[in-house]
Amino acid sequence: MAVTTPITTSPRSTGPAFGATVLGTPRVGPDRELKRATESYWAGAIDRTELERVAARLRSDMWAGLRAAGIDAIPVNTFSFYDQMLDTAALLGALPGRVAHIADDLDRYFAAARGTAQVAPLEMTKWFDTNYHYLVPEIAPHTAFRLDATSVLDDLDQALREGIAARPVLIGPVTFLALSKGVDGLSDPLTRLDDLVPLYRELLTHLHAAGAQWVQFDEPILVTDVSDETLDRAARLYRSLSEQQVRPSLLVATYFGDTGGALDRIAGAGVEAIAVDLVSGGLDAVTGSDALGDTLVVAGVVDGRNVWRTDLDRALARLEAVRAVAGSVAVSTSCSLLHVPYSLAAETGIDATLSSWLAFGDEKVAEVVTLATAVRDGAESIGAALSDSRAAAGQRSADPRVRNDTVRATVEAERRHRTRSTPATRRRVVQQQELGLPLLPTTTIGSYPQTTAIRVARADLRAGRIDGDEYTARMRAEIAEVVRLQEKLGLDVLVHGEPERNDMVQYFAEQLDGFFASERGWVQSYGTRCVRPPILYGDVARPDAMTVDWFRYAQSLSAKPVKGMLTGPVTILAWSFVRDDLPLADTADQVALAIRQETVDLEAAGARIVQVDEPALRELLPLRASERPRYLDWAVGAFQLATSGVADTTQIHTHLCYSEFGDVIGAIVDLDADVTSIEAARSHMEVLDDLESVGFDLGVGPGVYDIHSPRVPSVEEIVDSLGEALAVVPAERLWVNPDCGLKTRGTDEVVASLTNLVAAAKQVRAEL
Ligand code: GLN
Ligand code: ZN
Repeated sequence: MAVTTPITTSPRSTGPAFGATVLGTPRVGPDRELKRATESYWAGAIDRTELERVAARLRSDMWAGLRAAGIDAIPVNTFSFYDQMLDTAALLGALPGRVAHIADDLDRYFAAARGTAQVAPLEMTKWFDTNYHYLVPEIAPHTAFRLDATSVLDDLDQALREGIAARPVLIGPVTFLALSKGVDGLSDPLTRLDDLVPLYRELLTHLHAAGAQWVQFDEPILVTDVSDETLDRAARLYRSLSEQQVRPSLLVATYFGDTGGALDRIAGAGVEAIAVDLVSGGLDAVTGSDALGDTLVVAGVVDGRNVWRTDLDRALARLEAVRAVAGSVAVSTSCSLLHVPYSLAAETGIDATLSSWLAFGDEKVAEVVTLATAVRDGAESIGAALSDSRAAAGQRSADPRVRNDTVRATVEAERRHRTRSTPATRRRVVQQQELGLPLLPTTTIGSYPQTTAIRVARADLRAGRIDGDEYTARMRAEIAEVVRLQEKLGLDVLVHGEPERNDMVQYFAEQLDGFFASERGWVQSYGTRCVRPPILYGDVARPDAMTVDWFRYAQSLSAKPVKGMLTGPVTILAWSFVRDDLPLADTADQVALAIRQETVDLEAAGARIVQVDEPALRELLPLRASERPRYLDWAVGAFQLATSGVADTTQIHTHLCYSEFGDVIGAIVDLDADVTSIEAARSHMEVLDDLESVGFDLGVGPGVYDIHSPRVPSVEEIVDSLGEALAVVPAERLWVNPDCGLKTRGTDEVVASLTNLVAAAKQVRAEL
């Protein structure tokens, strides 16, 4: 009798192999169903059962769609009622103590997200270098982590009942803590990583028992410059999770950049699979790795955050390179599809040619499946798809709309004229002669409340119920109202209020050549808020002036200076889907040139002040420090190109917000804007210290109150803020303004707040 060697049970619980997956999915619904249902729930118009019914159907439809398309490992738990970081805080029992008294778990969750009359919400900030905002969990030294896996287990259960090959997705503990904020004296939340290990182990046990064969931990923090200590901690954590005997297989997902040396550390920790973003350049880390062994590499070759059709040849070459070094390879998107619209099929106004260059969510899923087929059966098996891909690429690069030689030549010629010839201190003198402003001039950032009349006018125009003349008349009425209000309040520098702008980027994109504005291409920005980023597909040119008529009308109503109001090149790029066939720096200069032409036209129309907003300057800052100088160089250069075409007497303002500016202080100085209004109210004017410490000597308007809250600031409070500001900035350079535009506020709050702002400025002026 033959002796058979006993089969040893491997400590590794390897889940079924898969070939085609995506790292995550959008969740707001193809028709923004979740947005509507959630807002109805908040308004009390539907109950929780109805909201959950909508949510369950959206999940079900998403999974069914992925399965039908041929995805053989389907991410679940990528649904969220608000945000995945907030979900993780709830999972770990780490919601802030101030919402603990709210009995209903869903209402408690929403309270942490949005606040209530009694409690402040969590802070919100940008998710890496995307335009998605997550809620920042607060971790204290004593936060008592406690697992509550109900939500993920319910999701998994629903999926398994529907016969889905489900892979629950969780934010990895390293990323979770690295993005959290330490409170109550905890300086670094990562120091609490070991406390999370037992919870994650317990979670793995539950997921395994419930039938999950794979689980995905998202660790995008690993593509940033994490310290060696953090890497050690991460490796230790994944080692201890992999050592657990009974568990699903582990996929650690990195995205938004090159994983670099972190790849080997994580692969070496014994996880079964690792996802890498090969669109943003992680290939060298993979091919250079000697730690992959039999690790499954989930190769992100289909761009999850831009809208271009994948070049299948290039993707195949990358897959081949991975296959040469890895145990096995699966095809994936580079990151979650959260960042792109659902489907091109929803776009009716797009021409077939342009459409053939693009891929939204559904189309990307199909690309993943096609590429997985090629990996499995050879490139010959996708011959037709390859020739379509080549044809589209060839057609795109030859299309006359993509290239405008006049624009390229003008950019080339104007590039040298980036800086204003007179130094800022001398410009200030001539501008002051021109403007005759009091010390501590008061102003606002641009927009005034978006009234019902404005929304109705916009809807009427879209529906064809009114014509362009009637629309213009209604917008002018709004402008007149806002100018009258500012005169009455006694502000020194006025704005027209921006009623005609649906959005500060889209408004310009709709008027510039080279942009396509999608109709249904909604992408979640935060919670129930969605944006529709324009698609920048060709060289940018400005056929006509974009803002001059509105400005001229507003200025005709007042003897006080009205600011011309524009969006800067970096922000226009940050909030659009950008080209992948031209360096961003070149596109930035093209947009800058268009804005420059507009500043010159505004000046000719009588504008003495032109404001060029760059709230997204910080947002595009590369995740790796080594890439930052190059970015700042072109970003600042584009702003300078946009703003240096005017006379010394014309005062250039800029406005920055939505971020902490510590990393870009030098760049703010280099913008050389005569006046910078900057968000500061929530950080107690700290940014002023930073600016002054590097020798800033231009005008600055630190926001003296937070416009994100409906609270009306008192005169005393604003006086105090100005006092703090004057301790650092001399009165000749200090401006008085709110933190940001007023478009989300109600008129009554705005009137009350600005009344106090003007009173405070007068009081402080009198004491100077
Ligand atoms: N001028 C714009 C406004 O006031 C600026 C908006 C912004 O900074 N996001 O609305
Ligand atoms: Zn702002």
